Amino acid sequence: MAANESRIALVSGGSRGIGRAIVARLAADGFDVSFCYQSNEQAALELEKTAGELGVRVLAAKVDVTESASVKAWVARTESELGPIDVVVNSAGITKDNPLVLMSDEDWHSVLDTNLDGVYHVCRAAIFEMMKRKSGSIINLSSVAGVYGNATQSNYSASKAGIIGFSKALAKEVGRYNIRANVVAPGYIETDMTAGLSDKVKQQAAKQIPLRRFGRGEEVADLVAFLASERAGYVTGSVFQIDGGITV
Ligand code: NDP
Repeated sequence: MAANESRIALVSGGSRGIGRAIVARLAADGFDVSFCYQSNEQAALELEKTAGELGVRVLAAKVDVTESASVKAWVARTESELGPIDVVVNSAGITKDNPLVLMSDEDWHSVLDTNLDGVYHVCRAAIFEMMKRKSGSIINLSSVAGVYGNATQSNYSASKAGIIGFSKALAKEVGRYNIRANVVAPGYIETDMTAGLSDKVKQQAAKQIPLRRFGRGEEVADLVAFLASERAGYVTGSVFQIDGGITV
C-alpha cells in the first residue's frame, strides 16, 4: 500500500458494544470506516463524531442487515463516498432466547435473518469488488454458542454455527483472490447484549471462566484489528475463540 493510500473498513452493527469498539480501534489504526446501525441513531452519531476526531473519514449509515437492498445501497454508498473496501467486519447480531419447546417461529426467523442472512447480505454485496482488486479481509463475529451450543439459544447457536460454515466455505472460495475470511467467536463480553443478565447469572458465569471476568469489547477489537491487518496475511478459514478460557 502506498503511504498516502487510505484503507477502508465496513463494519455492520458498529453503533454499540463490540462493533463500536471495533470501529474505534480501526479508526485509531488509520482506517476510514463506514459502519451501520439499525435504530440507535444517537449512539451512531456520537461515534461518527468521536471516531472522526481521530482524523479519518467515518460514515454512519442506518441499514437493516436483514434487507438485501438496504445492504447493497450501503456498500455502494461506501464505495462511492470513501472508496474501495479493504476490510469487512460483521458484528450486527441479536438474541431472542427461549427453550426450543417455547420458541416462536418469529424469534427463530428474526435471529437467523439478522445473524446469518445479515452476514450473507454484507459479504455478497462487498465480495465482487474485493475479487476484482484481489485483496481483502473479512471478519465475521460468531460466538462460543456457535461452536459448542448453548441451552435456550438454539436459534442463536444455529445462526452462529452457520457463520462458521459460511466463512470457511468463503475462505476456500476466495483465497485465490487474496481475500481472507476468518471468524471471531467471543464468550461473555460486557455489552448491552449481556447487560440484561441478572447479577446472579453473571456471578455464576464468571465462576466458570478461568480468567474470572467478562471480556471487554476493546479486547475483541484488538483481535479483529490483527485479523484486518497484513500481520495476519497468512491466516484464513480460522475460528478464534476469545472467551477467558470458558470453553477449556
Ligand atoms: P449489541 O447488542 O451491544 O450491539 C448490536 C449491534 O448490532 C448494534 O450496533 C445494533 O444496532 C446492531 N444491529 C442489530 N440488528 C441489526 C440489523 N438488523 N441491522 C443492522 N444493525 C443491527 O451486541 P454485541 O456488541 O454484544 O454483539 C456484537 C456481536 O458479537 C454479535 O454478532 C453477537 O452475537 C456477538 N457476540 C456477543 C457476545 C457478548 O457477550 N456480548 C458473545 C458472543 C458473540 P442499533 O444500535 O441500532 O440497535
